[in-house]
Amino acid sequence: MHYHQYIPVDIVNGPGTRCTLFVSGCEHQCRGCYNKATWPLKSGHLFTEVIKDQIIRDLLDTRIPRRGLSLSGGDPLHPANLDSVKKLLQEVVLSAPDKDIWLWTGYTLEQLSSEQQEVVALIDVLIDGKFIQAEADPNLVWRGSANQCVHFLSERAQHRQENRG
Ligand code: SF4
Repeated sequence: MHYHQYIPVDIVNGPGTRCTLFVSGCEHQCRGCYNKATWPLKSGHLFTEVIKDQIIRDLLDTRIPRRGLSLSGGDPLHPANLDSVKKLLQEVVLSAPDKDIWLWTGYTLEQLSSEQQEVVALIDVLIDGKFIQAEADPNLVWRGSANQCVHFLSERAQHRQENRG
C-alpha cells in the first residue's frame, strides 16, 4: 500500500485529537473530489512497517493523548489496500484497544465485499458513499455530501453517540 499523508496530531478528521492516515488509491472518480492526487494506487509514499509502528507509538503517546485513528484517502477500502489496512487495524485493536477507529470510503456499506467487511468489522465508525457535488453541504458534520452516511457500528461508538443526545 501507499499513502499520501500521515498527520500524527489532527483535530479535523473525526472527533477529538487523532492520528490520521490518508492512503493512496481510489477508483470512484467523484466529480469535485478534494483529493484527486490520491487516486493512483502507487502515488505518495510506500506504507512501511516503520510508519505502521509510528502510528501505534503515536496512539499510545500519553504526552498528547489521542482519542483514535482516522483512515481516509484515497480509499482505505480499495481492494488493493485491504491487506495492509487490515494488518494495521488488527495491530491497533491489539495494542491500543481503547482508541476508536473512523474510516471514510467511497463504497456504500451495502456494496462491501466480504473482504471489505472483514476490515469494517475492526472499526468503530464508517462514513460511506461517493462525494456527490449536487448534494454537497458545508454544514454537514464528518461528511461532504448529503448522500453519505455516518454509521456508528461498534457498541462503544453507538453508546458515545447516544450520550451526545
Ligand atoms: S471517494 Fe473520496 S477520494 Fe475517492 S474520488 Fe470520491 S471524494 Fe475523491
